[in-house]
Amino acid sequence: RTAVVLFTRDLRLHDNPALAAACANAEQVVPLFVFDPALAGRSPNRDRFLHQSVADLRAVLRDRGSDLVLRQGDPVAETIRLAGEVGAEGVALAADVSRYAKRRERRLTEEGERHRLSVRLFPGLTIVDPGALKPGGGDHYRVFSPYHRSWQATKWRDQIGLPKKRPLPSGVDVGRLPDEPAGESPGAVPGGETAARRRLRGWVGNVERYDDLHNDLAGDGTSRLSPYLRFGCLSPLEVAHAALARPAADPFVRQLCWRDFYYQVAQAFPEIGRKAYRRGATESWQGDDAAFDRWAEGRTGVPIVDAGMHQLRREGWMHNRARLVTASYLTKDLGVDWRRGLGEFGRWLLDGDLPNNAGNWQWTAGTGNDTRPYRRFNPERQRERYDPDGEYVARYS
Ligand code: FAD
Repeated sequence: RTAVVLFTRDLRLHDNPALAAACANAEQVVPLFVFDPALAGRSPNRDRFLHQSVADLRAVLRDRGSDLVLRQGDPVAETIRLAGEVGAEGVALAADVSRYAKRRERRLTEEGERHRLSVRLFPGLTIVDPGALKPGGGDHYRVFSPYHRSWQATKWRDQIGLPKKRPLPSGVDVGRLPDEPAGESPGAVPGGETAARRRLRGWVGNVERYDDLHNDLAGDGTSRLSPYLRFGCLSPLEVAHAALARPAADPFVRQLCWRDFYYQVAQAFPEIGRKAYRRGATESWQGDDAAFDRWAEGRTGVPIVDAGMHQLRREGWMHNRARLVTASYLTKDLGVDWRRGLGEFGRWLLDGDLPNNAGNWQWTAGTGNDTRPYRRFNPERQRERYDPDGEYVARYS
């Protein structure tokens, strides 16, 4: 028996339910990644990170006597074609929440039926599956605290280690890895499961101090695992278990729950990047283009705002506290539409993805699920509190 595993944004071997199931049930497994032109070109930083993650996945599969088959084009057509070439009976892939991903899953299932291929979807994108938890009378949780309580009380799926080693069928054309695209941020971290695991191992000892340090801009005490979670180079479940093996992990694990929370919101409300999420939210934006450009380029003259935007451009990442301050400044001080800020972050962020980016922009802009929609972060006060010695501002001046 032969199975194809279609990798999408689960670019890892460890705790990968789709890969593990294929390797448990089939004698020959064909790992496949399809570069989809419809998804490329939105963010040079992420295009590069994705490329590096795919290259790393190929290397780790080769170390285990397998390989990663690479194709370019429509993932559905390419998967069906490859499955035909290798005589596969099944295709496994991770379920995802976006409209685009859902359509891809539906088309693959339909095409699979026409070709007598069984297409199976697996968990792994989040710790608790989006849609698994529902409040009484609703299809998803709209407010974080009750979601968090219910999430903590749920039994998580069992974590899976490395999959069984399975060879490729002979004679498969594995395809060439395209040249690495150029990113825009010189300080961007490298993609891939290998780098991700190194980062997790190196950081997890700090989990006990997370509660004290996570708001200290210069201390840079957060995990910086977000790009790896974005592309599934790490399983969020594995990250949670690694943290929970240490004392005082709850504040950090709570942040992972925010990620799950926004995924279940985005699944239920796919317009999250375009429309106000909160019923009855009023929107009247009027900021001008010049003000937006000054914000985006870090030329507002407000030191903490400019430092945040410089960090974004330099590293393709920004500290959460600075994200809050810069987003609040754009929407509440300059009156610019949050969708423009969302687009700018989306261009640069290595971890940029719709549920978290839009969910957090809406929260800050006051159109989301926050119970205090008129909150504004005073940049001066934020700087005094979270960068008292001016170290962060100096570093990213
Ligand atoms: P840590 O503090 O170490 O947290 C661990 C993990 O928890 C993160 O890697 C992330 O996966 C998750 N997490 C933490 N905070 C949040 C949060 N508020 N919402 C959802 N998940 C969270 N995060 C993204 O992953 N992608 C985005 O596109 C994104 N856009 C944002 C836009 C704005 C305006 C704001 C205010 C926040 C945004 N965040 C986004 C959330 C948060 O800033 C980042 O997840 C965090 O800074 C990543 O750094 P870290 O890995 O060191 O986080």
